[in-house]
Amino acid sequence: MSAVQFHSRSVVIGATRPPISVVGRDSALIAGVMVHHTASPVHVGTNAHSYAKSLYDWCVRPTSQGGRGYGDIEYHAMITQDGQILDCRPSSARGAHCRAPLPGFAHSANTTHLGVAFIMNASQTIPSYLALEALHVYRYLAHLYTGRPLALAWHSQANPTACPGTRLAPILASLPSKV
Ligand SMILES: [Zn+2]
Repeated sequence: MSAVQFHSRSVVIGATRPPISVVGRDSALIAGVMVHHTASPVHVGTNAHSYAKSLYDWCVRPTSQGGRGYGDIEYHAMITQDGQILDCRPSSARGAHCRAPLPGFAHSANTTHLGVAFIMNASQTIPSYLALEALHVYRYLAHLYTGRPLALAWHSQANPTACPGTRLAPILASLPSKV
């Protein structure tokens, strides 16, 4: 695979796995894209789709049953080392990726930012060129979805966390701040 590829939610997660009780939000409040890493092993090809399905199953399971009770995958999209953009939580739904607000924002980053996660532990793995290209494409897609330029942010800017990883955060800091 040598180009960025987009895979719709129905392909990635499957039509039999609908969003469960996700909360909608006013798309006018979306101001940016927040980057995360999954802190998981790297998954590429269709293994990344299997990973997304298992993440979905864990996220929708109630906390009383060992799940997370998020209603869907916490991120709106995930990105793979082989350049796939996996469509996850509906963009029309509030995220479940960062409850804290970013500095200067009145609302939680779940409301103000679309969440996108690199499938890797980016403190151990260096993001590939194709993965970074996929992030570029996702940012353009997010611009098209909202109709305006969106700022780039990452998880550790909102609260103390190792996310999105020591090998990804410095790269993000070097990218255009708005697309
Ligand atoms: Zn994160």
